[in-house]
Amino acid sequence: MSFFSAASGSALWRGYEYFRDARVLLWQQTDTNTLQGKVRGSGEKIYTVSVNLEHPRASQCDCPHAAGRKIVCKHMAAVYFAAFPQEMERYLALVEEGERQQERRWEEQRQEIWQYVNSLTKQQLKEQLYQALQEKWGQW
Ligand SMILES: [Zn+2]
Repeated sequence: MSFFSAASGSALWRGYEYFRDARVLLWQQTDTNTLQGKVRGSGEKIYTVSVNLEHPRASQCDCPHAAGRKIVCKHMAAVYFAAFPQEMERYLALVEEGERQQERRWEEQRQEIWQYVNSLTKQQLKEQLYQALQEKWGQW
């Protein structure tokens, strides 16, 4: 399993931010499959991280979120990005592509709504507006 697919979207993004904000204090690759590092957490506590490159979910971190659980936390992601800058570039490109796709979907949705509104008669528009306002006021 690749590191990206083992980690949640928020762990990867927060890990990227931690790396960017220089919270990875030190890291080293200790063997083919292992990265070790120290990462400064949000509460200024320093966490000890060991990333298992072959089995990312077997990685370890002594933060409260990851301790004793088989998950990839943001501290592991930060160490991973520190060790593999090209993987970080690839990750950022994927995030950008995802944002572009989302923007295209929203644009399509806006066009669909506009076409729908344009297709209505004046009477239908009045009814739709009345219904929408009634639903909105019904929530108060
Ligand atoms: Zn952690």
